[in-house]
Amino acid sequence: MITIWSQELPIFTLSSRFFHPRNQTDNAKTLDAIDELNPKKIDWIYYENDAILEKYKKKGLPFSLTLNPQIADSLGYTSKKNKIIDYKGEIFIAPWMKSWKVKNPYWGCVNNPNFKKLFLDKSLFLASKEPYALMVDDALFNARLKKVKLIGCFCNYCTKKYNLLNRRKTSKSINKADYINVSGKGSFNIEKYESFQEKSVVDFLKTWMNDVKKVYPNMLFYTNNPDGEWNQIYKTFDGGIAEIKEIRINDTDLNRLYRNADILHKSQVFTLDSENRDLQFKLLEYNIKNKRETIFPWDIMIVKENRRFYMPLDTIKKIITELEIKYKNKN
Ligand SMILES: [Zn+2]
Repeated sequence: MITIWSQELPIFTLSSRFFHPRNQTDNAKTLDAIDELNPKKIDWIYYENDAILEKYKKKGLPFSLTLNPQIADSLGYTSKKNKIIDYKGEIFIAPWMKSWKVKNPYWGCVNNPNFKKLFLDKSLFLASKEPYALMVDDALFNARLKKVKLIGCFCNYCTKKYNLLNRRKTSKSINKADYINVSGKGSFNIEKYESFQEKSVVDFLKTWMNDVKKVYPNMLFYTNNPDGEWNQIYKTFDGGIAEIKEIRINDTDLNRLYRNADILHKSQVFTLDSENRDLQFKLLEYNIKNKRETIFPWDIMIVKENRRFYMPLDTIKKIITELEIKYKNKN
């Protein structure tokens, strides 16, 4: 595990994806959460502007900043030249983002030099704001399409690179007919193309991290690694901050998932995608008992319902105080 802070009790971190209150009717307040819960660091937040970042900085806590594959390149929009294109020629939108009312639901392609530059420029800009780490949410990029049976990106950059790597003659290069054959009739090797896409993401991330480190050598890199998965893409990062499913909240699964991260020398933080207070308390208890890094159950994405959940601050404070007394006394 990466040791950033020596610790007796677990490190508590606070996530506030976007700063609250967002408007006059918003009851969530990020600064109140910091004051009440006393986190040791701030993770998984998006940079909005210098004025908001200054509010965090005044608290004197280490913080990380987050990027995702939807980086905007033109007045808040992602322009077509950077996007992942599926084999049907359609622009890819992640399944859970289809109902989001955002200007930029489209993901950039890791083989596209425009997107590479955009992602690095944005990263260097964020790094200049002095975070201790950069986090990539949805770090699968092109490889995410495999999970929804869409294989990968078939933009001109990807197909050209694939054809070059496989030394295919122009006449035999993959083309539109091949994409149609992807549905099962042709000889197109789906697994080979999926591997090529995954390797492209790994290469993209390694190059990106090296480029950031040339300017900011101490920068750490986090990924969202849902349910504690560590595939070749997630393994390029120093640690994971991720949603975990309700069925994983038991000693056997948690022991296994944290051990998986330990073996790989990765840090791992879990946030439970649930409003079930008993399960939230169970995860807190496991973490405090086993001295694991802990993210407060505040500002949680309830994926199934596409909304966010904020447990009352006094409830979180009360349960953590009780658990700390209980397990401090035992040691
Ligand atoms: Zn592509």
